[in-house]
Amino acid sequence: PWRGGSDGAEAAPTPVIDTSVPHPARRYNYWLGGKDNFAADRESGDKIAAVYPPIRTAALANRRFLERAVAFLAEQGVGQFLDIGTGIPVSPNTHEIAQEIRAGARVVYVDNDPIVLSHARALLTSAPGGMTAYLDADMREPEALLSDPALRKVLDLDAPVAILLISVLHFAPDARAIVGPLLDAVPAGSYIALTHLSKDLLTPDVAAQTDAVNQRSGVEMWFRGRDAIEGLVDGLEILPPGVVPVAEWRPVDDPAERPTPDQASLFALIARK
Ligand code: SAH
Repeated sequence: PWRGGSDGAEAAPTPVIDTSVPHPARRYNYWLGGKDNFAADRESGDKIAAVYPPIRTAALANRRFLERAVAFLAEQGVGQFLDIGTGIPVSPNTHEIAQEIRAGARVVYVDNDPIVLSHARALLTSAPGGMTAYLDADMREPEALLSDPALRKVLDLDAPVAILLISVLHFAPDARAIVGPLLDAVPAGSYIALTHLSKDLLTPDVAAQTDAVNQRSGVEMWFRGRDAIEGLVDGLEILPPGVVPVAEWRPVDDPAERPTPDQASLFALIARK
């Protein structure tokens, strides 16, 4: 696995990309209107859109949340970010948003998809006072991630960290096994921001079809109910407005422009340890 930082000019290796099967990062890129996707990703994305037409709206609303969340956290005084399930870079990326507010912000990006690795250079463009790193690693091994020297070089785990798990935990069968060790490793004053797909926000008709459609689409996903999502941050202080549909977390746009919960069917929250 490759690790790279903004302090070194070393280029990421050219990873092997399997274009024959759909991948979450490329399919999300397709929904966002990007170009870094292949026929298998678009077919998978279209199968979801056939049953759930607002999926593109949902993807965009999720990305807007990431922007609001990172800005909010930087404004709270957080200078360190661990962005897990980074996705294919989309400007503004986490370090660009954070460093706009705190020039010295440090960001570690983590993804396990080779396509994200192939774009890692775009994530290593830190402003001079800050620092970024990219780790090609799997969130399902949080201990390995946390002890990685490349992560430790950028993040001081004795100081508060904002852990970002934006639209990624629904790719894991056991989300607690990921969130638990991550939260244990960071001190009081740290934050977690997450979004998670939920059937609770879908109309009953669409909710009834999700399992069949996911299977057809070739990407495994685990939907979780609102209570299970809230339970992931048990013992932490959930900041207002609470666990809410992603477009309703401290929105900045006009209510009339905002997607309804069933059009952006992810719950969002930010909690403080
Ligand atoms: N967080 C970004 C991208 C979300 S797309 C955003 O919200 O805009 C989900 C990303 O999670 C994809 O890039 C996918 O490759 C990554 N991912 C899925 N499973 C993962 C795992 N086990 N470990 C690390 N990354 C994973």
